[in-house]
Amino acid sequence: MYQKGRAWIELNRGHLMDNIRQFRMLLPADCALMPAVKANAYGHGAPLIAGALQEQGVHSFCVASVAEGIELRQAGIWGEILVLGYTHPGQFSDLAYYSLTQTVVDLEYARKMQEDGHRFTVHIGIDTGMHRLGERWDNLEGILEIFRFPNLKVTGIYSHLCASDGITQWERTYTLEQIRHFESVVEELHRKGIFGFKCHLQGSYGILNYSELCFDYARAGIALYGILSGKGDKVDAPLQLHPVLSLKARVETVKTLYRGEGAGYGLAYRTGENRKIGALSIGYADGIPRSLSNCGYVLCHGRKAPVIGRICMDQMLVDLTDVPQVRAGDEAILIGRSGDLEIRAEDLASWAGTISNEILSRLGSRLERVME
Ligand SMILES: *Cc1c(COP(=O)(O)O)cnc(C)c1O
Repeated sequence: MYQKGRAWIELNRGHLMDNIRQFRMLLPADCALMPAVKANAYGHGAPLIAGALQEQGVHSFCVASVAEGIELRQAGIWGEILVLGYTHPGQFSDLAYYSLTQTVVDLEYARKMQEDGHRFTVHIGIDTGMHRLGERWDNLEGILEIFRFPNLKVTGIYSHLCASDGITQWERTYTLEQIRHFESVVEELHRKGIFGFKCHLQGSYGILNYSELCFDYARAGIALYGILSGKGDKVDAPLQLHPVLSLKARVETVKTLYRGEGAGYGLAYRTGENRKIGALSIGYADGIPRSLSNCGYVLCHGRKAPVIGRICMDQMLVDLTDVPQVRAGDEAILIGRSGDLEIRAEDLASWAGTISNEILSRLGSRLERVME
């Protein structure tokens, strides 16, 4: 099937490979990458991304849900798959059947898993200060109890940093405190004679801003895809990461909008002079935020084409006045390069008032995904 007919994502394999290479150079030699491929690999397409990573010797992944884990198994991913989120007891048998590693979200949850009857492989979530998932770091008795449940095979413990992206004093201090809490749990477990479990703490910003840390896994997400969460974010590690994803659609029509006319729903765009406008075959159902109405631009033949009017479910309008050579059927680039210009996911995110993680993870299921 032709995959570039309407709206599609192009994945740059070379960029992904180079990003992995740089992360491996930055991380300590015995720290393995455990990429976050949740939310369809941040919209990129989980089977394609995980498959390409597996070919490069990556054999640990994290996902948000059982369904995401099953999708990877069915795509031939055979390594360790850690479910980061809560799994309802009704789905416990799938954990066992598909050999997924489940996060123990707290002590009470561990009891439920123990009582289920299946044998499970788990990583214990430790709450070191984010107060989302995990058993509290200072409840060592509770953590030890989880290790003793006969139906739970604990192969790892991990925590999550909630301010590692910040470079202010309080954010640094808080992060260092979380790191200390996590390390103290590890030390206490060792002191009690418990060994043989893996430890991990860092996501992308934890890796980039605290690269001196030395754990067994690094759960790289957004940065592995070559971008940062916010436009203008500063990080310590001097990596040159390359965006993996480009987002493109077709110019469906090219027409003149005459002086005084309006365009789109509610005629939210109006022109005081003749403009050349076009409709693009992509809309909010594909993940283009509706808040980009009359805001930002796309690229076409290396030129900027401003977004005009309200974003529709399946389409959007742009001003093509400055793109003399455009014809119906041409490509429009919403994320990516065209000529000397580039729109990054961080740009789209800043126009929409959000972070690139949200933009990417909401890219829709209707988009074709092609790795080149
Ligand atoms: C999503 C997630 C990650 C990856 O985060 P990035 O900031 O995208 O690298 C790591 N750990 C946990 C627990 C997560 O939920």
